[in-house]
Amino acid sequence: MRKVLSVASECAPLVKTGGLADVAGALPSALAAEGWHMRTLLPGYPAVMKALKRVTEVWHDADLMGGPARVLAGKTRGLDMLVLDAPHLFDRPGSIYLGPDGLDWPDNPERFAALSRVAAEIAVDGAAGWKPEVLHLHDWQAALVPVYLRALGATGEVATLLTVHNIAFHGLAPAEKLEALNLPEWGFTHEGFEYYGKINALKAGLVYADMLSTVSPTYARELMRPQFGMGLDGVLRARAADLVGILNGIDETVWNPETDKEIAGYRTPKRKAANTLALAEEFDLPPGDGPLAVVVSRLTEQKGLDLLLEALPAYCGRGGRLALLGSGDKALETAWLEAARDYPNVGVRIGYDEALSHRMIGGGDAIVIPSRFEPCGLTQLYGLRYGTVPVVALTGGLADTVINANDAALSAGVATGIQFYPVTAQELTGAMTRLCDLFAQRKVWSRMQRKAMKQHVGWGASAPRYAALYEKIGSVE
Ligand code: ADP
Repeated sequence: MRKVLSVASECAPLVKTGGLADVAGALPSALAAEGWHMRTLLPGYPAVMKALKRVTEVWHDADLMGGPARVLAGKTRGLDMLVLDAPHLFDRPGSIYLGPDGLDWPDNPERFAALSRVAAEIAVDGAAGWKPEVLHLHDWQAALVPVYLRALGATGEVATLLTVHNIAFHGLAPAEKLEALNLPEWGFTHEGFEYYGKINALKAGLVYADMLSTVSPTYARELMRPQFGMGLDGVLRARAADLVGILNGIDETVWNPETDKEIAGYRTPKRKAANTLALAEEFDLPPGDGPLAVVVSRLTEQKGLDLLLEALPAYCGRGGRLALLGSGDKALETAWLEAARDYPNVGVRIGYDEALSHRMIGGGDAIVIPSRFEPCGLTQLYGLRYGTVPVVALTGGLADTVINANDAALSAGVATGIQFYPVTAQELTGAMTRLCDLFAQRKVWSRMQRKAMKQHVGWGASAPRYAALYEKIGSVE
């Protein structure tokens, strides 16, 4: 087997705040089938340290950004892990990125620079007798690796692929931290990782990694436009030839409507009904003929759920029902709790609840994802697999994975969902109304559901594409 080291700040099922964790957790087994042995380097957060079994120390440093650190090799939940045990950086309660004040930990630059630095060192050293050909880096937290490799004089020894899961997070640090982060002066230029006078970790990766990828073909194109590039579109345009979009897959054993323990299992959409009834009851929603739409999401500006609030009068007026599970921005949480009070057809749970998310996707007739931007999105893929028709904004991975129910697609029998654009309250209201219309046409609706359930949403297509990229940049003897 050829060797690839994946470097990430989160990895399901050990530690997760978003889709990045799902991808990092799913890649190892998907790539094994392609002949690549993937190990994953992860920070030693408390949850990770607790889960790790039978570890061996493969690397240590008396002073890594202000404290002792070591890398432990071990296995857990089928994952082959390398864990950076550095208590001064990672042994903290609560969120992995935010302090108790809800703001980024002030030393986040040091924490993830340490992760990147160690990734570069153990790759070059071949710690534990294991030397990867390729480093697969995820987001800004791992994006300084190519700079450290250069600083170690090891360019060419290990190839690097940086995957952008979300361009919104740059990993900025003040210029004064150059030395503390062990970064070379030569890189602190406009052509390097300098960004308006600051250090920009993501830019470092975008400039110096051998290859770049992102998590859908449409997002790859969008990233090169000012509207979506969040200030880095120019950097990406300069590297257009090295940027590819590879869709995320989902874990088809975890998300399988036939075997899902949280629901009454089903193989055809007809058998969903029991789950829909149970879900309406769980959310205290009245019975009705309208669709039961669900939302499972972080509550942030990106996800466009403020727009959905504006669509409620029209949607509920048509008999539509809605169950939302999410957490995040306090203002959005409050607004949604108020909506649940104002509209009997709306039920809301604030929090993070994996089991409930399965019951919602199992029981919902439709899943709504009105994102302003969406690199790939996973919940529409769960929706497709469960015959829970996605209603989505036409952007990023949502554009690539859903076939809009326009007249042509409906008559050809290929429609799998509803798309709207531009991402405004007005267009979303139109989409929710269309949902009610299509739902009322039982034959048309069940045809869409069946088509959705047949779509391939696993890693079958994408794992070989990653393998081909590794192959292209790896050191073929
Ligand atoms: P993002 O990474 O931007 O949050 P994705 O759609 O790529 O969006 O991934 C989100 C993942 O997190 C999905 O697996 C989704 O089911 C899960 N998720 C989001 N919010 C919640 C929640 N409140 N409870 C349970 N799971 C959630």
